[in-house]
Amino acid sequence: MTLTSYFMEATYLVASILFIFALKGMSHPETARRGMFLAEGGMFAAIVGTLIGAHIVTWVWIIAGLAVGSILGAWMAIWVPMTAMPQRTALSHAFGALAAALVGIGEFVVHGQEMSAVTRGALGFEIMLGSLTTTGSLIAAGKLQGIIYGKPVQFRGQNIVNLGTFLVMVGCAAFFWMHPDASTVFYSMLGVAFVFGVLLVIPIGSADMPVVMSLLNSYAGLASAATGFVLGNNVLIIAGTLDGFSGFILSVLMCKAMNRSITNVLFGGFGAVVAESAAQTGGVMREITLDDAAMQLAFASRVVFVPGYGLATAQAQHAVRELAELLEGRGVTVKYAIHPVAGRMPGHMNVLLAEANVPYSSLYEMEQINPEFPSTDVAVVIGANDVVNPDARDNPKSLIAGMPILEVDRAKSVIVLKRGQGRGFSGLENPLFFKTCTSMLYGDAKSSLSHLAQAVQHV
Ligand code: NAP
Repeated sequence: MTLTSYFMEATYLVASILFIFALKGMSHPETARRGMFLAEGGMFAAIVGTLIGAHIVTWVWIIAGLAVGSILGAWMAIWVPMTAMPQRTALSHAFGALAAALVGIGEFVVHGQEMSAVTRGALGFEIMLGSLTTTGSLIAAGKLQGIIYGKPVQFRGQNIVNLGTFLVMVGCAAFFWMHPDASTVFYSMLGVAFVFGVLLVIPIGSADMPVVMSLLNSYAGLASAATGFVLGNNVLIIAGTLDGFSGFILSVLMCKAMNRSITNVLFGGFGAVVAESAAQTGGVMREITLDDAAMQLAFASRVVFVPGYGLATAQAQHAVRELAELLEGRGVTVKYAIHPVAGRMPGHMNVLLAEANVPYSSLYEMEQINPEFPSTDVAVVIGANDVVNPDARDNPKSLIAGMPILEVDRAKSVIVLKRGQGRGFSGLENPLFFKTCTSMLYGDAKSSLSHLAQAVQHV
């Protein structure tokens, strides 16, 4: 081994350690930012190590790739709004998976004939996972952005067609493994995998897309790990495996928080039956004036803010912190209730509130805050809907039956901030809005909160 290849292996070791600490950091909101920096450091070390230690055929393509990647990355980081983060993440998965598939094609063209059986097996996995994740992630991004029809696309015999496509893809991989010179079969596997990615994601509604994305993240990670086996690159094997399994664990945790199974998410067509299963909730929604709402808050002793997706779309995180500080200044105890799937991605509310410098000590998880609602004077629901829908607890026939909720309806009074009669992501009606303890303050969450803060100052 030469000195430069020793250096490369050393940077890979450093990168792998940094990736492990990064994952640990990202498991808690307080250390998540540090975790991201560690991951970036690890990636930087791996790239520098490779450029110094590996045999470089031509710098032209590397510099071109670096330039295109940096421009795209900067665009995605600076101009894509926080609310579009899920589709941005889906695009990143598509790019990562496409890179794995392209490396696989390159390896087949250059070394296809002389590969060992083990490497050929890894190459098959790399091509299948990389290709299906590319098209699957593009469809997911399109659905989340609203470019592609968001409702589940279902047809008769769909599961049979999907199973058939899957079997053809795996059959091609097996044939290629036995006959490494069968290039037609190799490229057929590639094509069928692209088609399978589309078929896999179209039956899933956009409501379940975040779970699907973390599954696709997992596939992209496993595709990278397979690339590592094909290239004999240790850091790719370690990073890809970490990515693959953390993505899978995240999918399971998200399903648990929604009381769904992975198979139900993948094959259930959730969202297709919403129209029929929408609750027939009677009664009227009672509107409240800004001054009455401010009065309730100013004279309360315990207030709980319950943020949801509407807080993100309104970018109301700073406004809620300002209102909370005003109330605390008047001696009101203020807490924030965080549901694990509020918003559109895991930790969405934590990220937004951290950005507005809301102290972590004021954030309470569902299990901690639910017992406190009966002694809460006012629960302020800010653009949340599904995560406070009492039907999930009370109506076994509801589409979201069994999903754990924030039990705001047990508070003495509930004020809901939303723009109108819009439903939650599940598309279901919410009986909370018709309860006698609930009053509605209509308007964009940010402007409602700012006006509330002004009104509280005049009480
Ligand atoms: P939600 O159920 O989607 O409801 C959001 C509410 O916000 C809507 O009813 C909407 O009503 C209101 N809203 C939208 N823009 C607003 C604005 N600018 N100002 C004020 N209100 C606004 O949100 P959620 O309660 O946070 O629930 C999250 C949903 O996403 C759950 O169904 C969950 O299962 C699903 N999900 C989340 C994740 C995750 O990782 N977080 C993953 C998978 C699925 P108006 O239109 O009337 O204003």
